[in-house]
Amino acid sequence: MGRTFDVVVIGGGPGGYAAAIKAAQLGLKTACIEKRVHQSTPALGGTCLNVGCIPSKALLDSSHKFFEARNDFKAHGIQVKDLSMDVALMQQRKDKVVKQLTQGISTLFKANGVQWLQGIGQYLGKKTVEFRPLEGAPETLSCEHVILASGSEPISIPVAPLQEDIIVDSSGALAFTEVPKRLGIIGAGVIGLELGSVWARLGSQVTILEAMDSFLPMVDKQIGKEAAKLYRKQGLDVRLGARVVGAQVKQGTVTVNYVEADIEQTLEVDKLIVAVGRRPYTENLLGSGSGVNLDERGFIFVNAHCETDVPGVYAVGDIVRGPMLAHKAMEEGVLVAECIAGCKPELNYDLIPSVIYTHPEVAWVGWSEEDAKNRGEPYKVGVFPFAANGRALAAHEPAGLVKIIAHKDTDRILGMHAISTQATELVMQAVVAMEFGATAQDLQLMVFAHPALSEALHEAALAVDNKAIHIAPRRVRKS
Ligand code: FAD
Ligand code: NAD
Repeated sequence: MGRTFDVVVIGGGPGGYAAAIKAAQLGLKTACIEKRVHQSTPALGGTCLNVGCIPSKALLDSSHKFFEARNDFKAHGIQVKDLSMDVALMQQRKDKVVKQLTQGISTLFKANGVQWLQGIGQYLGKKTVEFRPLEGAPETLSCEHVILASGSEPISIPVAPLQEDIIVDSSGALAFTEVPKRLGIIGAGVIGLELGSVWARLGSQVTILEAMDSFLPMVDKQIGKEAAKLYRKQGLDVRLGARVVGAQVKQGTVTVNYVEADIEQTLEVDKLIVAVGRRPYTENLLGSGSGVNLDERGFIFVNAHCETDVPGVYAVGDIVRGPMLAHKAMEEGVLVAECIAGCKPELNYDLIPSVIYTHPEVAWVGWSEEDAKNRGEPYKVGVFPFAANGRALAAHEPAGLVKIIAHKDTDRILGMHAISTQATELVMQAVVAMEFGATAQDLQLMVFAHPALSEALHEAALAVDNKAIHIAPRRVRKS
């Protein structure tokens, strides 16, 4: 038998690394096994830091700056002559940011006394984990508790198999070395829209093929409609009800065959991104006698405290039910470490915010108007457009709106939705308010700094009761 730990974490992404750091902080002897090698170097941080949240946001920010310089600076009276881009430099900056953050996790491990074991982990059952190092002989670790955090992988579809750097998944699309003239994307989900935005801003002609007839079904309908209008204006050609039936590469060009309204169509592109969702990754994670069960969709089955069917074995992040989001994974990691240490933590799954990092950003928390309708709850709605917000106009960012849904009887805020510049930061104000059980009136009575984008939140809360100051009141019919 090899080394002994209180806690062994398998997977060093947001779920795993947060769990490991918290467990060590709570005095538990902790190891984290991570097998990832990124650009020839062993790396912590998982999908999020290496090929997900961080590199995509680095490219979104770079491409947004380019887009602004080309299209928006002139509105501020700034002329830019001979504007050009250097994709290689953009990629180098992205890689630098990734490296800084992944090395930061390794530093945090050292500072907190977490042992990083570089290699593959497999939970064998009976408080043992097999560790196969990147180099050297396997070792059987014994431990009181195991946290499984092996994450997710892109779903592949047989009609469009990945091919070198031409038909790619999200990781491939984050590594393009030049701007594709024509870019096809299968899937108008979060990845399709974010990566489509990056390359469209840099000059690609982007076509997104979405199998479903509805656009962004998880988003409040009014906000989704606004998003569709703005994306179209930005040149994203989203084709709904488009079912891809084949994709072939010939002489560097991809021909995509798809069926739209029963008619077979073709699309020729230089690169094709397959972004049709992700699935839990559990390959070689569990030995045959582990006793850990998966649900019918391949997620590890856990209870409300992320414990599997085996006492003392937990699972967090993308391999368990719930949204595949880094912040959800991290908070589950912390929750589990605290459970192991004997605390009694809770995680409010109802108030996990979601963001699509396009420009403008789309962000929401809680119920949409459709949710309130479907649940048969009486509700009221307040909407405020950024075109009437002084700070947004000063910044030349007039697009979008804030929407608040409140309970008609109790006035409690049920949901907040925004499409705007910096909607990510705005939605967090709603999360804080909703965590404290705020009503629309609570937000109405607060003093917001002026001028601020947040004033739109204040005004949307006022609009819930038709009391907004900076838009005309809704006409209420007198009976
Ligand atoms: P992961 O981050 O996938 O980490 C799991 C780790 O476990 C991996 O590094 C893997 O190598 C390792 N591993 C697996 N099996 C083993 C094993 N047997 N032994 C050792 N190691 C193993 N989410 C957001 O909230 N915001 C965003 O902006 C965002 N942007 C994204 C952009 C893209 C392009 C993608 C693909 C995803 C994005 N996500 C975003 C989702 C986010 O990346 C995931 O929700 C998050 O990484 C999940 O964390 P995790 O710890 O569960 O898994
Ligand atoms: P997604 O589920 O968001 O979108 C996939 C889209 O592909 C859906 O609209 C689906 O209808 C469509 N689709 C599925 N099969 C298809 C087919 N055969 N042809 C055409 N369309 C098809 O998945 P994603 O965009 O791949 O993202 C994966 C996960 O990563 C998401 O769960 C998301 O939470 C996470 N992520 C989050 C962020 C963020 O928080 N900003 C960013 C990127 C990724």
